[in-house]
Amino acid sequence: MMSDNIFQKIIDRQIKANIVYEDDRCLAFHDIGPQAPVHVLIIPKKVIATHDAITEADRDLLGHLHLVAVKLAGQLGLHDGYRLVVNCRESAGQTVPHLHMHLLGGRPMRWPPG
Ligand code: AMP
Repeated sequence: MMSDNIFQKIIDRQIKANIVYEDDRCLAFHDIGPQAPVHVLIIPKKVIATHDAITEADRDLLGHLHLVAVKLAGQLGLHDGYRLVVNCRESAGQTVPHLHMHLLGGRPMRWPPG
């Protein structure tokens, strides 16, 4: 269920995470399986299962997530650049049904991704 997914449990402090940022609308924490020297997940506190479930009502929230990503990239030393990734649904690699933005950096990135 969306309301008991692992990220909701992190928001609710039912399980621990290495939290780097929190405000009234979002939470950011280090990924448990980092794919780069810096790999942080930025998640809304609002339950949104997938990227294609966003609506007009989420416009400001999504902008906020991006602004938080910029702030964290600076704080985490990603001055040479970074990558933001949102995996939408299973075939794109989404494993947790709670919208999340990956902030990756600290190593060269190739394109296209695998
Ligand atoms: P995705 O594959 O796009 O759904 O991303 C889910 C991410 O959540 C993966 O990179 C996982 O490593 C990460 N993850 C899963 N469980 C945890 C956890 N308890 N704490 C931190 N990151 C997690």
